[in-house]
Amino acid sequence: MIGRYLCEQVRIEAKAFLPELFGRETTNDDGIGGEHIYMPRFNHRGKKRDYLRGFGVQFWGIGCQAGAGNYASSVAGFGPALKREIKRRYPAWVEVHPFGEVLPRRDNQVTVEGTPEDQYGVPLPKIAYSIGENEHRMANEMYDTVEMLLHEAKAEIFELERGRTGRNGSAIHEHGTCRMGDDPKRSALNKFNQMHRVNNLFVVDGSAFPTATEKNPTLTILAMAWRATDYLADQLRKGTL
Ligand SMILES: Cc1cc2nc3c(=O)[nH]c(=O)nc-3n(C[C@H](O)[C@H](O)[C@H](O)COP(=O)(O)OP(=O)(O)OC[C@H]3O[C@@H](n4cnc5c(N)ncnc54)[C@H](O)[C@@H]3O)c2cc1C
Repeated sequence: MIGRYLCEQVRIEAKAFLPELFGRETTNDDGIGGEHIYMPRFNHRGKKRDYLRGFGVQFWGIGCQAGAGNYASSVAGFGPALKREIKRRYPAWVEVHPFGEVLPRRDNQVTVEGTPEDQYGVPLPKIAYSIGENEHRMANEMYDTVEMLLHEAKAEIFELERGRTGRNGSAIHEHGTCRMGDDPKRSALNKFNQMHRVNNLFVVDGSAFPTATEKNPTLTILAMAWRATDYLADQLRKGTL
Protein backbone atom coordinates (compact mmCIF):
# COMPACT_ATOMS: atom_id res chain seq x y z
CA MET A 1 0.00 0.00 0.00
CA ILE A 2 2.78 2.46 0.88
CA GLY A 3 4.10 4.12 -2.25
CA ARG A 4 0.90 3.47 -4.21
CA TYR A 5 -1.85 5.86 -5.35
CA LEU A 6 0.48 8.71 -6.15
CA CYS A 7 -1.81 11.53 -7.28
CA GLU A 8 -1.02 14.75 -9.04
CA GLN A 9 -3.24 17.16 -10.89
CA VAL A 10 -3.67 17.50 -14.62
CA ARG A 11 -3.25 20.97 -16.04
CA ILE A 12 -3.33 22.87 -19.27
CA GLU A 13 -2.41 26.46 -19.98
CA ALA A 14 -3.22 29.30 -22.31
CA LYS A 15 -1.56 32.69 -22.66
CA ALA A 16 -3.10 35.75 -24.22
CA PHE A 17 -3.32 39.52 -24.41
CA LEU A 18 -6.43 41.50 -23.53
CA PRO A 19 -6.34 44.19 -26.25
CA GLU A 20 -8.70 46.47 -24.31
CA LEU A 21 -5.76 46.97 -21.92
CA PHE A 22 -3.12 47.69 -24.59
CA GLY A 23 -1.31 50.93 -23.86
CA ARG A 24 -2.73 51.47 -20.38
CA GLU A 25 -0.52 52.97 -17.72
CA THR A 26 2.16 50.61 -16.33
CA THR A 27 1.34 49.92 -12.69
CA ASN A 28 2.87 47.67 -10.06
CA ASP A 29 0.59 44.63 -10.27
CA ASP A 30 2.97 42.24 -8.49
CA GLY A 31 0.79 41.88 -5.40
CA ILE A 32 1.70 38.66 -3.66
CA GLY A 33 3.21 37.50 -6.95
CA GLY A 34 1.92 35.05 -9.51
CA GLU A 35 -1.72 34.18 -9.17
CA HIS A 36 -4.28 36.86 -8.31
CA ILE A 37 -7.58 35.36 -9.43
CA TYR A 38 -9.00 31.90 -8.78
CA MET A 39 -12.09 30.42 -10.40
CA PRO A 40 -13.36 27.56 -8.20
CA ARG A 41 -14.67 24.31 -9.58
CA PHE A 42 -18.08 24.77 -11.21
CA ASN A 43 -18.72 21.52 -13.07
CA HIS A 44 -20.64 19.89 -10.22
CA ARG A 45 -23.54 22.01 -11.56
CA GLY A 46 -25.31 21.89 -14.88
CA LYS A 47 -25.02 19.23 -17.56
CA LYS A 48 -23.73 15.71 -16.88
CA ARG A 49 -20.08 15.38 -17.94
CA ASP A 50 -18.35 12.50 -19.73
CA TYR A 51 -15.68 12.41 -17.02
CA LEU A 52 -15.46 12.22 -13.20
CA ARG A 53 -14.39 14.96 -10.75
CA GLY A 54 -13.49 18.49 -11.76
CA PHE A 55 -11.12 21.41 -12.10
CA GLY A 56 -10.53 24.96 -10.89
CA VAL A 57 -8.79 27.70 -12.85
CA GLN A 58 -5.84 29.81 -11.74
CA PHE A 59 -5.02 33.07 -13.51
CA TRP A 60 -1.37 33.99 -13.31
CA GLY A 61 0.80 36.82 -14.51
CA ILE A 62 -2.06 39.20 -15.06
CA GLY A 63 -1.05 42.74 -15.90
CA CYS A 64 2.33 44.31 -15.13
CA GLN A 65 3.99 41.62 -13.04
CA ALA A 66 7.69 40.95 -12.74
CA GLY A 67 8.57 37.97 -14.93
CA ALA A 68 5.15 37.77 -16.55
CA GLY A 69 4.61 37.67 -20.27
CA ASN A 70 7.58 36.04 -21.92
CA TYR A 71 6.45 37.41 -25.27
CA ALA A 72 8.97 40.10 -26.19
CA SER A 73 11.00 37.94 -28.58
CA SER A 74 7.90 37.24 -30.63
CA VAL A 75 7.05 40.91 -31.23
CA ALA A 76 8.03 42.05 -34.72
CA GLY A 77 10.07 45.19 -35.33
CA PHE A 78 13.31 46.88 -34.40
CA GLY A 79 14.67 49.73 -32.27
CA PRO A 80 12.44 52.28 -30.47
CA ALA A 81 9.28 51.12 -32.28
CA LEU A 82 9.86 47.55 -31.04
CA LYS A 83 10.37 48.78 -27.46
CA ARG A 84 7.16 50.83 -27.65
CA GLU A 85 5.19 47.83 -28.88
CA ILE A 86 6.55 45.58 -26.12
CA LYS A 87 5.62 48.21 -23.50
CA ARG A 88 2.19 48.74 -25.04
CA ARG A 89 1.40 45.05 -24.69
CA TYR A 90 2.90 44.58 -21.22
CA PRO A 91 -0.18 45.60 -19.11
CA ALA A 92 -2.48 43.38 -21.19
CA TRP A 93 -0.95 39.95 -20.46
CA VAL A 94 -3.10 37.14 -19.01
CA GLU A 95 -2.44 33.45 -18.36
CA VAL A 96 -5.14 30.88 -17.70
CA HIS A 97 -4.19 27.65 -15.91
CA PRO A 98 -6.88 25.07 -15.11
CA PHE A 99 -5.88 22.37 -12.58
CA GLY A 100 -7.92 19.16 -12.43
CA GLU A 101 -8.12 16.11 -10.24
CA VAL A 102 -6.37 12.98 -11.47
CA LEU A 103 -8.18 9.83 -10.38
CA PRO A 104 -6.13 7.83 -7.88
CA ARG A 105 -4.62 4.75 -9.53
CA ARG A 106 -2.95 1.90 -7.70
CA ASP A 107 -0.24 1.61 -10.35
CA ASN A 108 0.84 5.22 -9.96
CA GLN A 109 3.55 4.61 -7.43
CA VAL A 110 6.91 5.48 -5.95
CA THR A 111 9.31 2.62 -5.17
CA VAL A 112 12.85 2.47 -3.84
CA GLU A 113 13.49 -1.23 -4.37
CA GLY A 114 16.69 -1.80 -6.27
CA THR A 115 17.32 1.88 -6.93
CA PRO A 116 20.76 3.46 -6.43
CA GLU A 117 21.50 5.51 -3.31
CA ASP A 118 22.30 9.20 -3.24
CA GLN A 119 25.43 10.64 -1.60
CA TYR A 120 23.79 10.37 1.85
CA GLY A 121 22.88 6.71 1.44
CA VAL A 122 19.18 7.47 0.85
CA PRO A 123 17.68 5.32 -1.95
CA LEU A 124 16.58 7.34 -4.98
CA PRO A 125 12.84 7.12 -5.71
CA LYS A 126 11.58 5.53 -8.91
CA ILE A 127 8.29 7.06 -9.99
CA ALA A 128 5.73 5.35 -12.24
CA TYR A 129 2.92 7.70 -13.15
CA SER A 130 0.45 8.17 -15.95
CA ILE A 131 -2.90 9.81 -16.57
CA GLY A 132 -5.83 8.16 -18.32
CA GLU A 133 -8.89 8.70 -20.46
CA ASN A 134 -10.81 10.48 -17.67
CA GLU A 135 -8.13 13.17 -17.42
CA HIS A 136 -7.99 13.66 -21.20
CA ARG A 137 -11.77 14.10 -21.30
CA MET A 138 -11.55 16.61 -18.48
CA ALA A 139 -8.78 18.45 -20.32
CA ASN A 140 -11.15 18.80 -23.28
CA GLU A 141 -13.62 20.70 -21.12
CA MET A 142 -10.75 22.74 -19.68
CA TYR A 143 -9.93 23.85 -23.23
CA ASP A 144 -13.61 24.58 -23.96
CA THR A 145 -13.75 26.72 -20.81
CA VAL A 146 -10.52 28.58 -21.53
CA GLU A 147 -11.53 29.29 -25.12
CA MET A 148 -14.92 30.55 -23.99
CA LEU A 149 -13.38 32.83 -21.34
CA LEU A 150 -10.79 34.26 -23.71
CA HIS A 151 -13.35 34.73 -26.47
CA GLU A 152 -15.72 36.62 -24.11
CA ALA A 153 -12.80 38.80 -22.96
CA LYS A 154 -11.97 39.55 -26.64
CA ALA A 155 -8.50 38.18 -26.07
CA GLU A 156 -5.72 37.92 -28.62
CA ILE A 157 -4.40 34.41 -28.08
CA PHE A 158 -0.65 34.07 -27.74
CA GLU A 159 -0.39 30.36 -26.88
CA LEU A 160 -3.10 27.71 -26.77
CA GLU A 161 -2.52 24.20 -28.06
CA ARG A 162 -5.70 22.14 -27.80
CA GLY A 163 -5.09 18.55 -26.75
CA ARG A 164 -1.85 19.27 -24.97
CA THR A 165 -1.64 18.57 -21.22
CA GLY A 166 1.17 19.73 -18.96
CA ARG A 167 3.89 17.16 -18.45
CA ASN A 168 3.34 14.85 -15.48
CA GLY A 169 4.41 16.55 -12.27
CA SER A 170 4.04 20.09 -13.62
CA ALA A 171 1.11 20.88 -11.30
CA ILE A 172 3.59 20.50 -8.39
CA HIS A 173 0.70 19.29 -6.20
CA GLU A 174 1.79 15.75 -5.42
CA HIS A 175 -0.42 13.72 -3.06
CA GLY A 176 -0.88 10.15 -1.90
CA THR A 177 1.51 7.20 -1.44
CA CYS A 178 0.54 6.90 2.25
CA ARG A 179 -3.21 7.33 1.97
CA MET A 180 -5.60 7.52 4.91
CA GLY A 181 -8.74 5.44 5.34
CA ASP A 182 -10.71 3.24 7.73
CA ASP A 183 -9.72 -0.07 6.12
CA PRO A 184 -6.12 -1.15 6.88
CA LYS A 185 -6.18 -3.32 3.74
CA ARG A 186 -6.82 -0.28 1.55
CA SER A 187 -4.99 2.48 3.42
CA ALA A 188 -1.77 3.05 5.35
CA LEU A 189 -3.04 5.64 7.86
CA ASN A 190 -6.19 6.09 9.89
CA LYS A 191 -8.21 9.32 9.92
CA PHE A 192 -5.77 10.91 12.39
CA ASN A 193 -2.74 10.31 10.11
CA GLN A 194 -1.63 7.51 12.45
CA MET A 195 -0.22 4.43 10.78
CA HIS A 196 -2.54 1.42 11.06
CA ARG A 197 0.34 -0.98 11.67
CA VAL A 198 2.68 1.21 13.76
CA ASN A 199 0.64 3.18 16.25
CA ASN A 200 3.38 5.60 17.31
CA LEU A 201 4.01 6.76 13.71
CA PHE A 202 2.08 9.75 12.35
CA VAL A 203 2.49 10.96 8.76
CA VAL A 204 1.30 14.55 8.52
CA ASP A 205 1.93 15.67 4.97
CA GLY A 206 0.44 15.53 1.48
CA SER A 207 1.07 11.81 1.22
CA ALA A 208 -1.94 11.10 3.47
CA PHE A 209 -4.44 12.33 0.84
CA PRO A 210 -6.48 9.52 -0.75
CA THR A 211 -6.91 11.74 -3.82
CA ALA A 212 -5.48 14.99 -5.10
CA THR A 213 -8.72 16.95 -5.65
CA GLU A 214 -8.34 19.97 -7.92
CA LYS A 215 -7.47 22.36 -5.08
CA ASN A 216 -4.20 23.77 -3.79
CA PRO A 217 -3.21 21.40 -1.00
CA THR A 218 -1.27 23.35 1.61
CA LEU A 219 -4.09 24.64 3.82
CA THR A 220 -5.65 21.18 3.95
CA ILE A 221 -2.27 19.62 4.81
CA LEU A 222 -1.96 22.13 7.67
CA ALA A 223 -5.51 21.49 8.91
CA MET A 224 -4.96 17.73 8.92
CA ALA A 225 -1.59 18.08 10.67
CA TRP A 226 -3.27 20.25 13.33
CA ARG A 227 -5.99 17.66 13.86
CA ALA A 228 -3.44 14.84 14.00
CA THR A 229 -1.33 16.62 16.61
CA ASP A 230 -4.41 17.42 18.75
CA TYR A 231 -5.22 13.71 18.65
CA LEU A 232 -1.61 12.76 19.40
CA ALA A 233 -1.50 15.10 22.43
CA ASP A 234 -4.80 13.67 23.66
CA GLN A 235 -3.52 10.09 23.31
CA LEU A 236 -0.33 11.00 25.18
CA ARG A 237 -2.37 12.56 28.00
CA LYS A 238 -4.48 9.39 28.21
CA GLY A 239 -1.31 7.27 28.22
CA THR A 240 -2.39 5.18 25.24
CA LEU A 241 0.77 6.00 23.31
C1 LIG B 1 6.85 26.19 -6.74
C2 LIG B 1 5.70 25.63 -5.94
C3 LIG B 1 4.60 26.43 -5.71
C4 LIG B 1 3.54 25.94 -4.96
N1 LIG B 1 2.47 26.76 -4.74
C5 LIG B 1 1.48 26.32 -3.96
C6 LIG B 1 0.40 27.18 -3.62
O1 LIG B 1 0.33 28.34 -4.03
N2 LIG B 1 -0.59 26.70 -2.81
C7 LIG B 1 -0.56 25.42 -2.33
O2 LIG B 1 -1.48 25.03 -1.61
N3 LIG B 1 0.45 24.58 -2.64
C8 LIG B 1 1.47 24.99 -3.43
N4 LIG B 1 2.49 24.16 -3.74
C9 LIG B 1 2.43 22.77 -3.26
C10 LIG B 1 2.84 22.68 -1.80
O3 LIG B 1 4.03 23.42 -1.61
C11 LIG B 1 3.06 21.20 -1.43
O4 LIG B 1 1.91 20.46 -1.75
C12 LIG B 1 3.32 21.05 0.05
O5 LIG B 1 4.44 21.82 0.43
C13 LIG B 1 3.57 19.60 0.36
O6 LIG B 1 3.79 19.51 1.74
P1 LIG B 1 4.43 18.22 2.34
O7 LIG B 1 4.54 18.47 3.80
O8 LIG B 1 3.68 17.04 1.83
O9 LIG B 1 5.88 18.13 1.66
P2 LIG B 1 7.10 19.17 1.71
O10 LIG B 1 6.61 20.57 2.00
O11 LIG B 1 7.83 18.94 0.41
O12 LIG B 1 7.98 18.68 2.93
C14 LIG B 1 8.79 17.53 2.83
C15 LIG B 1 9.96 17.78 3.77
O13 LIG B 1 10.68 16.57 3.92
C16 LIG B 1 12.05 16.87 3.89
N5 LIG B 1 12.77 15.65 3.50
C17 LIG B 1 12.76 15.01 2.31
N6 LIG B 1 13.52 13.92 2.35
C18 LIG B 1 14.01 13.84 3.61
C19 LIG B 1 14.87 12.91 4.29
N7 LIG B 1 15.37 11.82 3.69
N8 LIG B 1 15.16 13.16 5.57
C20 LIG B 1 14.66 14.22 6.22
N9 LIG B 1 13.84 15.13 5.62
C21 LIG B 1 13.53 14.93 4.35
C22 LIG B 1 12.16 17.99 2.86
O14 LIG B 1 13.36 18.71 3.05
C23 LIG B 1 10.93 18.83 3.22
O15 LIG B 1 11.17 19.77 4.23
C24 LIG B 1 3.57 24.62 -4.47
C25 LIG B 1 4.69 23.80 -4.71
C26 LIG B 1 5.74 24.31 -5.43
C27 LIG B 1 6.94 23.41 -5.67
